[in-house]
Amino acid sequence: MTYSTQDGVAVITFDNPPVNGLNHVTRAGIVENLKRAQDDAQIVAIVLTGGGKVFSGGADITEFNTPKALAEPHLHTLIAAVEASPKPVVAAIHQLAMGGGLELALGAHYRVATPGAQIALPEVKIGLLPGAGGTQRLPRAIGLQRALTMIVSGEPARSEALADGTLFDEIVTGDLLEGAVAFARRIAAKAGPLPRVRDREIEATDPDAILQRARDGIATASARFPAPGKCIESVEYGLRHGFDAGLIREREGFTALLQTPESRALRHAFFGERAASKIPDVPAHTPVRPIREIGVIGAGTMGGGIAMNFINAGLPVVLVETTQPALDRGLATIRKNYESNVRKGKLTVEQLEARMKLIRPTLSYDDLKTADLIVEAVFEELSVKEQVFRKLNAIAKPGAILASNTSTLDLNTIAAFTNRPRDVVGMHFFSPANVMKLLEVVRGAQTEKDVLATVMALAKKICKTAVVSGVCDGFIGNRMVEQYLRQALSLLEEGGLPAQIDRAIEQFGFAMGPFRMSDLAGNDIGSAIRKRRGLEHPERVYSKIADRLCEAGRFGQKTGAGWYDYKPGERTALPSTQVDDMIVAYSGERGAKRRAIGDEEIVERLVFALVNEGAKILDEGIASKASDIDMVYLTGYGFPLFRGGPMLYADTVGLARVQAAIERYAAASGDAFWAHPAALLTRLAKEGRGFNR
Ligand code: NAD
Repeated sequence: MTYSTQDGVAVITFDNPPVNGLNHVTRAGIVENLKRAQDDAQIVAIVLTGGGKVFSGGADITEFNTPKALAEPHLHTLIAAVEASPKPVVAAIHQLAMGGGLELALGAHYRVATPGAQIALPEVKIGLLPGAGGTQRLPRAIGLQRALTMIVSGEPARSEALADGTLFDEIVTGDLLEGAVAFARRIAAKAGPLPRVRDREIEATDPDAILQRARDGIATASARFPAPGKCIESVEYGLRHGFDAGLIREREGFTALLQTPESRALRHAFFGERAASKIPDVPAHTPVRPIREIGVIGAGTMGGGIAMNFINAGLPVVLVETTQPALDRGLATIRKNYESNVRKGKLTVEQLEARMKLIRPTLSYDDLKTADLIVEAVFEELSVKEQVFRKLNAIAKPGAILASNTSTLDLNTIAAFTNRPRDVVGMHFFSPANVMKLLEVVRGAQTEKDVLATVMALAKKICKTAVVSGVCDGFIGNRMVEQYLRQALSLLEEGGLPAQIDRAIEQFGFAMGPFRMSDLAGNDIGSAIRKRRGLEHPERVYSKIADRLCEAGRFGQKTGAGWYDYKPGERTALPSTQVDDMIVAYSGERGAKRRAIGDEEIVERLVFALVNEGAKILDEGIASKASDIDMVYLTGYGFPLFRGGPMLYADTVGLARVQAAIERYAAASGDAFWAHPAALLTRLAKEGRGFNR
């Protein structure tokens, strides 16, 4: 925090890197310096600005739910002190004023900004509403329509779009501070009361219609997320009952939302994303290897999507295939994907061509000699991976990172095909690789720390949520999903049908139930993996019903029939009597007496299967923290965001209840999976603790 004076103007610069979060120390510092300026008779006006890269990223959310958030001066007190200042306060905004930062600026008498500065009230994204006057002052500053759009979406707006004089009094094109001080001197000379946003009328031509449109806009989401509705309610209350009443309503709304499981889940995901990028034994400043050129081997389903990630970020890719037709097919698919983006207006034709130019297609491994990172995405067969990695060992330059996209093979075995296992890492993308957010970064027994740091930094550059996983069959995500799917198949055998099971878990909030999902991905893929696991682990008993389905040619949407029937060219899943008969017959053969299964049992068995395996993964150190597992499930498996992932959900339910359910299923079914609950789960349940503490 610095305090200086220029021509009778006090400049208060608050500084709390990286984004000037308004934590307790910062708030107290601003209040103290305001007083200093007010006490100095030489000072005629005050400029409030942020040091470093931005004005302010907002309240410090690490203080939420801690006494520090409420310690005086809290944000309300600070804003009230700014607003009540007898000397004019000018907020000088550069780059970003977000959340509490914008609310602070709205308390100032005047605002000046640099062109391109962004403002936002993003609280809704963590299940909250702007709780320091934002729902009351923003509508008064920019009108009902624009304010509601910003508050309900949480999306930013740029200063130029708001340069009509209602929010910003001046856009400063030169040096911000110089401009702000000159502006402050000019307005200090003005007579009359200081303008306060709170005193303005809310501009709106047809407020009822605007509010109704906002409510209609959130109708589907509001069943799961209460925050957008509360935002509208708070704005409306202030509109109808005035600023002070609105402020009280806003406070009540904020306090209520803070306690909701949905907000807890969203904050968990927000912090989980940041926490995932931190690896406990890899220091934050570990030097990274420069990545300027990337090799991708295999231009199939995954290789093409993987290459797109890099070229989208401007990184050139050498794309290697075995035959010209395979290479041409891969390139055509990439082009087709971009063309669809052009049709949707997300990309221009020039951008498409520029991106395609970043790909160097080749049939020769020699072209990989200059690559800094090579990602292998060839067939999932160890012998093929062996050939590829032996070649890479001979060709790749020293220090090049060698990555495999394998889903199920042992990364340490793959690394041992080279004499540089320290440079080998797993980069497990999810399909479609150019769309899915998740990247599991698989850490081999010998993977070097700087290799991990490099891959994590690169993941950020290509906008992925990267989560580190140790080596085990299926890594974090697929190892857990195996247990989930096993339960789904057992439920069929015991009395359930695909449509009922899918409906129950979709009502819980999953984007898609296991059978609809399997029809989309292709039932043959899961069947092949189960067969391999059946050979490798004969002790793991599986329902064979899914294999029967494949034997009947029902591979899913691609064959027009899977767990469901599909009309030609359509994707609507229609329950199939043929499949239902097949399931009932299978139960009969197995001697299972079919029974009615309730939705609660379906949800518990599917979700607690994830939780139990997740607990084992955590205990074994495959995942380093529970939130990493949740991030895998939120970004890669359609787990409902409002529940925060399987591990947070288990904490919310209470581990003792999870444990009791598992014991119940163990007693009822004799299923070995339930009979051996994770030791960590049992221990934490006994201690009354959760995974996320
Ligand atoms: P795919 O069959 O669609 O593509 C593999 C491509 O690799 C083919 O085009 C093939 O011609 C090429 N290829 C084979 N051997 C090669 C060699 N020696 N050199 C160069 N190219 C070679 O397979 P896919 O679905 O893209 O899977 C690739 C890898 O990604 C596998 O390890 C798989 O387990 C993994 N993976 C797949 C998915 C998925 O959903 N499909 C998801 C995550 C990971």
